[in-house]
Amino acid sequence: MARLLQALFLTASAGRALASCAYGTFLHPRAEGEEVPVATFGYTGVIGPHNWAALELPTNNACATGTRQSPIDMVANVFEVIPASDVTIEVNDMPDGADFENLGSTVEVITQGGTLAFDGKTFELQQFHFHLPSEHLDNGTSQAMEMHMVWQSAAAEIAVVGLYINIATGEVTTNITAPATKREITSRSRLFGKRQAQAPVAGATGPTTLLETIFSVVDQISTPGTKVKTPPLVMSEVVDLIKAGSFQAYSGSLTTPPCSEGVNWRVSTQKLSISPASFVKARDVIGFNSRFPQNTPGQPNILMVSALGSAAAAVSLSSTPAKAA
Ligand SMILES: [Zn+2]
Repeated sequence: MARLLQALFLTASAGRALASCAYGTFLHPRAEGEEVPVATFGYTGVIGPHNWAALELPTNNACATGTRQSPIDMVANVFEVIPASDVTIEVNDMPDGADFENLGSTVEVITQGGTLAFDGKTFELQQFHFHLPSEHLDNGTSQAMEMHMVWQSAAAEIAVVGLYINIATGEVTTNITAPATKREITSRSRLFGKRQAQAPVAGATGPTTLLETIFSVVDQISTPGTKVKTPPLVMSEVVDLIKAGSFQAYSGSLTTPPCSEGVNWRVSTQKLSISPASFVKARDVIGFNSRFPQNTPGQPNILMVSALGSAAAAVSLSSTPAKAA
């Protein structure tokens, strides 16, 4: 009987559009000419992340029971630092533009080739999409947005490169506008040399061209299930930035149903920037699509912990004598 129920559940969910962060991978393959699927899960209320498991049992079980769920607070000791030089990363430019889709759960760019290689494994880039605000926390701090580049290996392993996005201040810190004396040049050179040795300061640089180009057309896909062609996309700017930093690596999960584990997370220490105007355009279409931070990897799923807490509270309530009004 249990098997029959399980089979019925699986049949019922097979045709449903997950439109998850894994769209375009083996977990949810993209068919040629397929219409843009719209997610059946959301981020608030009964279709929100506290109830994802119940939306499709047993497919989404890991959302409520998995012990290596993402996103997490990226604090010391939960990740391993890997220099980007230990990783091969290449992404093809898209001179004819790319399909940019509104899946209801996110907005996603369909990529046209790219390779990520580490630990003797090679992954192919499938797509990248956006979360607002960031899903991972940078040492306890939420960032304006987060970009997820989703890769898959021939052995059906998934890797996701996470990139925080902050709002650009528009200040170009390395511009010298006025003629300088020899002494000033010397002191400025020292200053710039010091700055270049550090990671870029979040939000202190100009906007990332790739993001400005993509979000210039986001208002044309304000309705879930629609798509548009972006202007030509140059990927080298972001790839070069990633290569100049490090990765915070850990083994986690998809941050959307079915919350599958075994995902190779590589969160970059480099940050992208978006102009205030583009951020507002992105926010008006994306709304809110960030799963709440999960428990420390290896610890019990936080929903199991809270279910026990709720049960204890209910018992406590029922055993407390009613007070006279
Ligand atoms: Zn994602």
